[in-house]
Amino acid sequence: EDTVLESEAEAAMEEEEFKLYMQPKIDIQNGNQITGAEVLARWLSPRRGLILPGNFIPLFEKSELIVKLDRYMFEHACRWYRSHLEQGGRPVSLAVNVSKAGLFQNDFVDYYTDIKAKYSIPDRVMELEFTESILAADTELFAELVVNLNARGFICSLDDFGSGFSSLGLLKEFDVDTIKLDRRFFLDMSKPKAEDVVECLIDLAGRLKVKTVAEGIETQEQIDFLKQIHCDMVQGFFYSRPLRAEEFE
Ligand code: C2E
Ligand code: MG
Ligand code: MG
Repeated sequence: EDTVLESEAEAAMEEEEFKLYMQPKIDIQNGNQITGAEVLARWLSPRRGLILPGNFIPLFEKSELIVKLDRYMFEHACRWYRSHLEQGGRPVSLAVNVSKAGLFQNDFVDYYTDIKAKYSIPDRVMELEFTESILAADTELFAELVVNLNARGFICSLDDFGSGFSSLGLLKEFDVDTIKLDRRFFLDMSKPKAEDVVECLIDLAGRLKVKTVAEGIETQEQIDFLKQIHCDMVQGFFYSRPLRAEEFE
């Protein structure tokens, strides 16, 4: 099954079978406005129907296919953004995921910068999400890349923060704009220490002037708590599932 999917992937990109789904990020401290969205890949195969990322991202990560997909997603996101602006849309932020393999390409920064310029996308609207496992891979290189990306008008964020190796100490090394607290923090908030851990992380981020997004938020109770402890933004099914681009617009 994997071999077949892999062999079909490149042609599927050429046929534009990968679709952009967008999940809104809501600013819970300022009247619940939509501040932007995360772009998530869905493979709409004419033969197989809808395939979710869990069924192809881990597979693509075993080869260079993931780099191709990430670049495809970024270019399509810029294309969407251009038409969004031309239709008079608000300057929301739009985040794409970047895998570890993509980051280590020599032309990584140039590629993203060139595509952003190709579609005349303003500075500080396109956001790149890096998973925290990247930090452990090469801290120094990542720190340097973030400086470079900031200079070229990208927003940088750490995805799934707190899910793996603890990178608390590493936070001081990077000028990231945002950390996205992993969904797993919110799965069982009834554990005695669960709320304290989240509150301390958000407090730490605040001191470092890093914005916080809570991921996978599904209940009003979670939102009330997050609002009270000054979490900036929320992304989760409570407000919206990932939507087709037209629906998000
Ligand atoms: P992620 O970047 O952490 O994206 C958030 C995932 O959490 C999405 O899953 C989203 O649908 C899901 N989610 C959001 N809110 C909730 C909620 O309230 N409850 C629950 N149960 N889940 C929620 P999705 O779309 O299946 O994507 C899974 C992962 O696949 C993403 O995690 C990301 O790591 C990866 N991925 C998706 N698209 C791309 C891409 O274009 N490139 C790369 N490199 N990775 C991608
Ligand atoms: Mg993400
Ligand atoms: Mg995430």
